Amino acid sequence: MIIQYYVGTPLEEIEGVREKLRGWGLRVQFNPGTAGPSPEAQIPVDNVFGAINDAHRREIAALDCVKTVIPIEGVPQNLALVRRGHRHTVTIPNPHGDRPVTIGSGQALVVMAGVCTVDMEYTLATHQMARRAGADLNRGGAFKPRTSPYDFQGLKEDGLKKLVEVRAQVGLPIVSEILDVRDVDLFMKYEVDVLQTGTRNAQNFELLIEVGRTKKPVLYKRGFSNTIDESLKAANYVMEQGNDNLIFCLRGIKGIGHSYRNQGDLDEIVALSQLIDRPIVYDVSHSAGKRSAVAAIGNMAAAGGADGILMDVHVSPDHALVDGFQAIDEEGTLQGMIATWRKLRNITQGAG
Ligand code: PEP
Ligand code: MN
Repeated sequence: MIIQYYVGTPLEEIEGVREKLRGWGLRVQFNPGTAGPSPEAQIPVDNVFGAINDAHRREIAALDCVKTVIPIEGVPQNLALVRRGHRHTVTIPNPHGDRPVTIGSGQALVVMAGVCTVDMEYTLATHQMARRAGADLNRGGAFKPRTSPYDFQGLKEDGLKKLVEVRAQVGLPIVSEILDVRDVDLFMKYEVDVLQTGTRNAQNFELLIEVGRTKKPVLYKRGFSNTIDESLKAANYVMEQGNDNLIFCLRGIKGIGHSYRNQGDLDEIVALSQLIDRPIVYDVSHSAGKRSAVAAIGNMAAAGGADGILMDVHVSPDHALVDGFQAIDEEGTLQGMIATWRKLRNITQGAG
């Protein structure tokens, strides 16, 4: 919130207010106002950050020296992920493979491709195909959030074991979704390289705190019913736990009248690359929900400046446990797509 004081309020009185705010655990940033012709510019102002509640606002607004209290809407400019002016990348260590992967500004487009849901039969062949076609990471869900609780929810710990076994053979770092704070130790035990938080957990603050505390790279997926500001604030919460390794993933939202599985949010790639300094990934599979749309949507994402693409692939989509209809299944096609996306990203980034 922003506190505007009456012009001429003694500084000691303002300091008293600031003491109170600090006592509530809030951070304050004071601007005393400037003497000059503009009456607006003369107003002393405190910018207040932290967990502000309605009782705080009421108590401050009732003070004699306070002219107005203005709640801040939108994305506060002091969010860690909004810090501007430096190019930020996230490096994903790869202790079980051959090379780490760096994603973000100035780097080549990073492709995270693999099964939607880990299965025992096809995950190895699928992840090998993804690697041959040019993917940098393998994605695969052991714990699957579903629209209906009566649908299959993943192989769980057996799925993580399978992912780890496949990683040892393929050599790419793995991305896997964590659904519950109770599973953090399990993900640490199997050394999952990137923790994904899904669209249904975009505002699960307890989970975001715990994944933040691991200091592991986190792929945060935008909430499908959240405004972009809400998702940015929630993603920022991961960073507030001292975790700089945040990657922001767009995946479409619930909209009206769209042709594909979700309403695409490709324009946010452009908006966010001007606002945040975190790597931006676009999920071409869950936004489209249709195999035939993936290449073109990926072209738009890459040309728009996405730092990475997340996608479902499967060598035998008719046998996939979940989402086979949107998985790319042919190696040559996948290789062509990835090569095209890399070129488009390079053109946008001015690298030729
Ligand atoms: C996924 O990436 O497998 C997934 C379930 O995505 P989302 O959370 O975006 O639906
Ligand atoms: Mn899926």
